[in-house]
Amino acid sequence: MRLQQESNGSHYLLSGEAQDNLGSSPTLDTLREADRKHGDPLDRLDILDANLNCSKCGSELTERFSAAMNGQLLCWQCAMSDTADTTNEITRTTDSAKVVLSKSNLFHKSLCDYVINVATGCTHGCKFCYVPSTPGVSARGDMLGERADVEDVQRDWGGYLLYRDDLPERLGRKLERKRKWKWTERGQGVVMLSSGTDCYQDRRTAQITRGCVAELVEHRIPVRILTRSPAVCRDIDLYQRATELTDDGMLVRVGSSIPCLEEEQVRAIEPRAPVPSARLNALQKLSDAGVPVYVSMSPTYPTQDRDDFESLIQKFAQLDPEVVFHEPINPRGANFDMTVEAAREAGETELANELAKLRDREYWVDYSLKQMRWAEELGDEYGVNVHIWPDKQVITSVDSETETELRNQRKRPSGEIIPDVPLPT
Ligand code: SF4
Ligand SMILES: [Zn+2]
Repeated sequence: MRLQQESNGSHYLLSGEAQDNLGSSPTLDTLREADRKHGDPLDRLDILDANLNCSKCGSELTERFSAAMNGQLLCWQCAMSDTADTTNEITRTTDSAKVVLSKSNLFHKSLCDYVINVATGCTHGCKFCYVPSTPGVSARGDMLGERADVEDVQRDWGGYLLYRDDLPERLGRKLERKRKWKWTERGQGVVMLSSGTDCYQDRRTAQITRGCVAELVEHRIPVRILTRSPAVCRDIDLYQRATELTDDGMLVRVGSSIPCLEEEQVRAIEPRAPVPSARLNALQKLSDAGVPVYVSMSPTYPTQDRDDFESLIQKFAQLDPEVVFHEPINPRGANFDMTVEAAREAGETELANELAKLRDREYWVDYSLKQMRWAEELGDEYGVNVHIWPDKQVITSVDSETETELRNQRKRPSGEIIPDVPLPT
């Protein structure tokens, strides 16, 4: 399908011929995919400027919109009265959230100052995931119950996904208006997609992500992508284009969580996420294409020894990553019990037993310190910039010299070269 351009800045409009090509009621998927293949990767078709109508009531899409499960475009009113779809034990519908861009405390981990979550819920359903216990999910139990039949946000995690289809359009408008930008030494004004979901877990989230990244890059805002999904490679053209735009560092970096290469163990506690080798291959492809990459070696398992860490860091060195973040697993919260239970149910008895031992605080502190040391030593050995994330409770449980060292570590930026955010005039 070809779209024809009538330029309006970085957004383009649909000309009469292009609209004829698309038919009288194109689906959201058709529009986003045609847009992906059209012209410069930074050009975007803005759905709210495209004279499109709701497939149900016929009203023009001028404010908010979403799509039905068959892809037909819906105005906001029709989207909010549309029923959820449950297929393969996953319930999908539109997210009613208003939020576009949120300030984030993840600068403590040298990750970002803002986050954009392209959906609520995550079909990967990692057992240790802390997201369902955060206010963005736990405080929205009523809405999730109403819209997606969620009974228990934590127990049902992995079984619901609510999309935010109109985020790129709303983000573009927000960035035009925004006059102040949070910037910290460790967060560097970066926007991360996504901290509360996987932004490439399926085609629809990937489409939202692409639109948001294009808007951010167009405004010269630095972006961090974090995903376990190899589908991130569908946007290599966009990420390559972003590398050409600034000369004081790269605007976009792409990373993946790769804690362990033992596929059975990983599958036991990350039941629906792509296997670690697929994540590694995706990062290699991006790196080979000149896109800056990083790894989140988190959370590492108590079954991993120094040799396992060495194999991992050797493989990461091949990626030439800007940084490898490392964090041992944390035994707190209801999700930890679920993690142990999931490992046992999957027949990973050694993993389950080793995880269960971490409930003993002293044992956990020893394990954490030991693994963080290995990561740092091996980083030095293989020329990889390893940035550890020591847990606050570990810091308060060690001798004073180690405590000072770990506290200083928590204040260090990641070492990535990130361009300055242009201050609004
Ligand atoms: S991929 Fe990330 S957000 Fe999704 S379940 Fe796993 S840890 Fe949570
Ligand atoms: Zn409608």
